Amino acid sequence: MSLQFRIKLFQHLINSSIQMLQSILAEIKIGLDFPEKLKIRDPENVEKKLERLVEGGPDCLQVITDFDHTLTKFKTPDGLRCDTCHGIVDNSSLVEEEFRRKTNALRDKYYPIEVDHEMTLQQKIPLMIEWYTQSQNVLVEYRVTKSQIKEMVLKSRAFLRDGAKEVLSMLNMHRIPVLIFSAGVGNILESVLEREQVHFPNIKVVSNYMDFDECDRVTSFQKPLIHMFNKNENALRHSTYFAELQSRRNALLLGDSLGDVHMDHGMPSSHKEEGVVLKIGFLNDKISERCPEFMENFDIVLEDDQSFKLMQLILSRIIKDAKQ
Ligand SMILES: [Mg+2]
Repeated sequence: MSLQFRIKLFQHLINSSIQMLQSILAEIKIGLDFPEKLKIRDPENVEKKLERLVEGGPDCLQVITDFDHTLTKFKTPDGLRCDTCHGIVDNSSLVEEEFRRKTNALRDKYYPIEVDHEMTLQQKIPLMIEWYTQSQNVLVEYRVTKSQIKEMVLKSRAFLRDGAKEVLSMLNMHRIPVLIFSAGVGNILESVLEREQVHFPNIKVVSNYMDFDECDRVTSFQKPLIHMFNKNENALRHSTYFAELQSRRNALLLGDSLGDVHMDHGMPSSHKEEGVVLKIGFLNDKISERCPEFMENFDIVLEDDQSFKLMQLILSRIIKDAKQ
């Protein structure tokens, strides 16, 4: 064995030992552009969850994610608020001024309630149902058409987070199921996915869907209504989605609202005992007021971050270890 070869072998062994000693969380933090945006209540527990996710590999994994301001950005680099599914229509120049006036008035009234950290969930729920029902009624009243929606999406300010396209492609390539669970509008969010060319076959959308007449005008919304605080097993009552994902005991759950925390509740109880769910919360708005409750409910909180870099790093690690 030559001296050069022995030095190389020695260096390799040292590097491997350092890597083994370094926690997964520490490794991920190094990869982040702004690690200070990461807030974790219990780092030890997160490390354990990451270890189990890596151990299970891509074959045991599923992803459950919210859409508005989770897969999509909350704001542009110059600080402009990005569109939600409803916002795409509400802020469009293709709708009449009167339509915009009505929907903006609804948002001004109800959005502060959604993010109010002093109100209880029980106080918020009836008001959120009121908001959603009234917004849907306005869309039906103005008979918005399929082709208008497509054009509105093209011209909208609804953008996927930086790196989200790559993450969705990676998930598709490894056949990891993705559930997009949204209180927005299914037809509109699918149109955004199509525009971004990421409407992959591994994606299942559970959301509020519109019905159209023979002239492609909206006539009604399908029931039951999914609002931001009933995104749990009730909204999936008649679906066999989770039951069909037998081997997928581990999950990554992503959301930007406390209403997203229970999106995994439809997973079978056996999965909950054997598997692990890592919950990542994007804290976009009212950051200092809402941080404590976000940290209480999500394993990892990302403050004011418009990227999917954390997801990229976690997923790469899960996939990399499976290859070795
Ligand atoms: Mg959201």
